[in-house]
Amino acid sequence: MHFVHETLPQTVRFAPGAAAEHVGAAVDRLGGARVMVIASPSAKEPAERLTAGLPVVVRHDDVTMHVPVETARRARVVAAEHAADVLVCVGGGSATGLAKAVALTSGLPVVAVPTTYAGSEATPVWGLTEGSVKTTGTDPKVLPHTVVYDATLTLGLPVDLSVASGLNALAHCVDSLWAPRTDPVDQALAVEGARALCAGLPRVVAEPDGIAGREQTLYGAYLSAVAFASAGSGLHHKICHVLGGRFDLPHAQTHAVVLPHVLAFNGPAAPDAERRLATAFDAPTANEGLARLRARLDAPRSLRDLGMPHEGIPDAVEAVLAAAPPDNPRPVTPDGITALIEAAWEGADPR
Ligand code: NAD
Repeated sequence: MHFVHETLPQTVRFAPGAAAEHVGAAVDRLGGARVMVIASPSAKEPAERLTAGLPVVVRHDDVTMHVPVETARRARVVAAEHAADVLVCVGGGSATGLAKAVALTSGLPVVAVPTTYAGSEATPVWGLTEGSVKTTGTDPKVLPHTVVYDATLTLGLPVDLSVASGLNALAHCVDSLWAPRTDPVDQALAVEGARALCAGLPRVVAEPDGIAGREQTLYGAYLSAVAFASAGSGLHHKICHVLGGRFDLPHAQTHAVVLPHVLAFNGPAAPDAERRLATAFDAPTANEGLARLRARLDAPRSLRDLGMPHEGIPDAVEAVLAAAPPDNPRPVTPDGITALIEAAWEGADPR
C-alpha cells in the first residue's frame, strides 16, 4: 500500500439531547464572547434553545440554499457590525454553507450543529452562487472547529427529506470509493458509513420519531462526509454539480436520483468497490443492495420529477464530459453519459 492521508483537525461531539451542553463547551473552548448564531428559519426554535446560555450578539436567519453571493455579503456585514468572534450555525447544509462563507473572509471559527445528513460540517469545502453559476473551493478556514451532532435535532426533518438527505450522504460514501484522491482510510470510512446509512435509513422511515435510526443515519452521514472531504469529487458529484447548477434542482434529491445510475455505470469497472458495497448493503451485489434500499425508502426516482427539462440533456452531457475526473474507473464517453442521464431523467431501473 502506498498512500498519503490527511486527517482534518476537528472536534466531534456526538450525543442525543446534549447539543446545548456541547455547543456551550465548544464556544468556551474557543473563548467566544460574541457569538453570531446562523440558523435557517426551520431551525430557529432549536437554535434559540441550545444557545440560550451563550453570549449571543446577533441571530441571523437569512439563509438560502447554495449561498448566493448577496446572502453571503449580508451575513459578512452582520458579523463585522456585531464584532462576532464565534459563529454557531444550526441547520442543514445551507446554514453551514453560509457560516463557511463568513468564515472564508473573516477567519472566524465555526461551531456547526447539523440538522440534516448533508455532511458539509465535516468538509473544508465552501460554495457560493452567482446567477446560475456555483463556485466551490477548499480552504482550511471554513472547516468547522467543532461539530455537535444531536440526533434529536433531526426528528423534525420530514421523512422524504430525510430519505433524500440520507441518500446524499450515501452518495458521498459511494463516490469516495473511486474519487480522485481516494485512499484506504477514506474507503474504510465510506464502507462503514454505507453500512450505517443502510441500517439507519429504513428505521427512520419506519419510525420517524425514533432516535435509533436517526442516530445511525447521522453517524453514517458524518463518516461519509469525512471520506468525501479527503477523497474529493468523483463522477457522481461532478454530474450532480452540473445538473443542480444548470437546472436549479434540489440538492439532496438530485443526488438520490443519480446515485444508482452512477453505481451501475462504474460498478463493473470497480470490482473492489462493488464487492465492499455489496457487503455493506448485505446484498449479492451493490446495485441490488442499493435498489432494495431505495425500494424500502420509496426514494425519489427521476430527474423529470425534479423538474429537469429533457432538452437540457445534451448540454448537461457536454458539461459532465468536461468536468469528469480523468481517472474515473470507467472511461467517460458521450454515449455513456448520455445513456446515464437519460436513464436518470426517465427514472429507469439501472439494473
Ligand atoms: P438545506 O440545508 O437547504 O435543508 C433543506 C430543507 O430542510 C430546508 O428547507 C431546511 O430549512 C429544512 N430543514 C433542515 N433541517 C431540518 C429539520 N431538522 N427539521 C425540519 N426541516 C429542516 O439542505 P441540505 O440538503 O441539508 O444542504 C444542501 C446544501 O448544502 C447545498 O447548498 C449543498 O451544495 C451544500 N452541501 C455542501 C457540502 C460541502 O462539503 N460544502 C456538502 C453537502 C452539501
